Amino acid sequence: MSAAPTRTADEGSRVVFANGLLPGGSLVDITSTGDLITGVDPVAAGPRPGSTTIDLEGRLVLPALVEPHAHLDKAFLAERASNDTGDLMGAIRALEQVRNTLTRADIRDRAVRAAVELSRNGVVAVRTHADTTLAGGLDSVLGLLDAKDDCSSFIDIEVAALVEWPLTGRGGADRRALARDAIASGADVIGGCPHLDPDPLEAVNVLIDLALEAGRPLDLHADENLRADSEDLYHLAHRITSDGLTLRANASHCVSLSMMDEFRQRQIADLCATAGVTVTALPQTNLFLQGREHHRAVPRGIAPIALLASAGVVVAAGGDNLQDPFNPMGRADPLEIAALLVVASHLTPDHALQTISTGGAAVMGLSCGLEPGRRASFVAVRATSVRQSIAMGPPDRLVVHGGVVIDEQKRNTK
Ligand SMILES: [Zn+2]
Repeated sequence: MSAAPTRTADEGSRVVFANGLLPGGSLVDITSTGDLITGVDPVAAGPRPGSTTIDLEGRLVLPALVEPHAHLDKAFLAERASNDTGDLMGAIRALEQVRNTLTRADIRDRAVRAAVELSRNGVVAVRTHADTTLAGGLDSVLGLLDAKDDCSSFIDIEVAALVEWPLTGRGGADRRALARDAIASGADVIGGCPHLDPDPLEAVNVLIDLALEAGRPLDLHADENLRADSEDLYHLAHRITSDGLTLRANASHCVSLSMMDEFRQRQIADLCATAGVTVTALPQTNLFLQGREHHRAVPRGIAPIALLASAGVVVAAGGDNLQDPFNPMGRADPLEIAALLVVASHLTPDHALQTISTGGAAVMGLSCGLEPGRRASFVAVRATSVRQSIAMGPPDRLVVHGGVVIDEQKRNTK
């Protein structure tokens, strides 16, 4: 990872992570100096002089896992609220019924619980959206910023203000002001749901303008529906290219893109590649929420990330909701998401792994990998291949972030 570290090894301290199996099949020693990888070398016969050695015992070493799209403020609310209709609007209604229980302290506690699970599974950075609504004010933003502090010894948390709709028209002024307050309070990213706004394309414009004004990245919940004429993503990429904007933008969900004809899909994919818009697919939540009005040949509701990647778009995948009314399942494990991409989106295991590691890191403006010069962040699992690691989701993962082994002591926030 290349972001400012929140916990790192002492500068100059050298650690050799010995006997690690790379996805390509070679057995190597990975050397970290401070928080960077400084060597990936064939296994040495004996200990390397002047270094602390940690034996990986032949575990498979994967690039650090990154969760680019979570809602930690809603994590585990399935214990409190259920979605009667099973679709997106049913989830939103269920959430409103328990909204008054979502205090800043409650949000912080559940977010920390989820962050610990993510870390145990090998995640070193997570972008969480924070409901930013007139009813809830900044409670989610502040609760998640509290959790960010609590968890800084083991995971990097980035908070995206998910601004309530409508953002357009007369009713939008208060919400636009709230978005500015969220940024002033410490939110890192501007987010919103233009597809739920009465004027989706104008909502995209408003959100772009808020992000530009704040000088922050933009992450939209885009086109989260099965209507082939929903074009939040197109408008986002079109505005960036036509106005020549410098804006780091990600579009999450992009469900409707999966319903368009291939010519239009490729047009939009090319535009995204030109605009530098990244796309994050959220297979588990969209498989749960979408398509309930269909009774045969049910659409899968997953952004076509193989097609997007073939056009040069940076793609990622995330878990989205974790055991809440939007998705009652989930283990806070990106390998579970990768497995869904293999079976439901027909990605190869290697490509699926990219979406939950280097792809997610690119969305967050980080870089991760297993080469010298990268941040020394990776996860070592008991598996012999990428495919097997995704299939088995092995427990007992050895997580290293910034050259430091992340153990249960580091995850203890008490
Ligand atoms: Zn989401």
